[in-house]
Amino acid sequence: MSQLELRNLRKEFTGGGDNIVAVDDVDLTLHDGEFLVLVGPSGCGKSTTLRMIAGLETVTNGDVIIGDESVTDLEPRERDIAMVFQNYALYPHMTTRENIGFGLKMTTDLDADERNQRVEDVATSLGIEELLDDYPKELSGGQQQRVALGRAIIRDPEVFLMDEPLSNLDAKLRTQMRTELKALQDDLNVTTVYVTHDQTEAMTMGDRIAILNHGELQQVGTPLECYHQPANKFVAGFIGAPSMNFINVESEGDRLVHKEFTYDVTGETAEAIADHGRVSMGIRPEDIRVVDESAVENPITADVHLVEPLGDVSHVTLNVGAKRLTAAVPGGKTFERGEEVTLQFPEENLHLFDAASGETLK
Ligand code: ATP
Repeated sequence: MSQLELRNLRKEFTGGGDNIVAVDDVDLTLHDGEFLVLVGPSGCGKSTTLRMIAGLETVTNGDVIIGDESVTDLEPRERDIAMVFQNYALYPHMTTRENIGFGLKMTTDLDADERNQRVEDVATSLGIEELLDDYPKELSGGQQQRVALGRAIIRDPEVFLMDEPLSNLDAKLRTQMRTELKALQDDLNVTTVYVTHDQTEAMTMGDRIAILNHGELQQVGTPLECYHQPANKFVAGFIGAPSMNFINVESEGDRLVHKEFTYDVTGETAEAIADHGRVSMGIRPEDIRVVDESAVENPITADVHLVEPLGDVSHVTLNVGAKRLTAAVPGGKTFERGEEVTLQFPEENLHLFDAASGETLK
């Protein structure tokens, strides 16, 4: 286990005279044993970052440091890293035993009995000891993924790199493997970078998450920090499901003005937006209250467009004039389509951003 540091890591691709900046000067330090999830939309540079750490892609600029040593100029096999891919990359002509043991055979001088014992120990820790003599085509997706994990674990590397390892599994298995993988990483305590575009995976698995957009790091923090104190509108919209609602308003003194409503803010919020001009008001679906009467502060009138009952919670799509919002309300509440309701956005739950830059104001 070891600290992993990315210093000013940059990757430019040139093609057809164009320069694509895939990774834009990323600075990131992982503590010993940390599970860091690198998350962001398709094309934001996640895989390229991971491939530079692994040595599968050259860097345009910057450094990859493991422990105290720069590995930037080392070949992939000289870096003490094990990588798990989404397509498992198992050898089809090898059994589970051979697939797991293969890396060990190449890199250590253990004799055959010792190797076999290690393979069996790892297979047992992953619950696949019954499958040691099966070939990949005889295994389910989840079992193949466990073999791929076994092959990484057995090498006892300084760093694990995982590129969307659960994305080929069905939803139920993905949820189960998410928990198992997190528990396994906790036990092994190996510094891990885990790439995904799935914010739920990021929130549930990461000790910290690093959110990337257009090659630039937007925020690095614990899942709850990123959820409660997003660094900008992009992070606010990316983390949380259903996504945060955004409404463009004009700030006039300590009042936020929209065609359909006005909202009076107080204290720090008022200071943050005083005469700021165009502001994007953010409210999470779970923070919208649907109230019965209009005797509340800053009431907002809406009509119910659609209700999706999920059991414990219902997602309600609402129209505030031409603006469409989503609220997550307790499942017991019932609504009619077209029904007029009053909404309340509690001031302590409001997020406010500069409408043009997306920078967080509050
Ligand atoms: P996804 O989730 O879709 O895999 P990603 O976040 O992993 O996306 P990357 O695959 O790292 O994104 O790609 C980042 C950017 O770099 C994209 O614009 C992509 O088109 C570009 N890119 C990646 N590899 C190359 C390459 N070999 N040549 C040219 N451009 C590339």
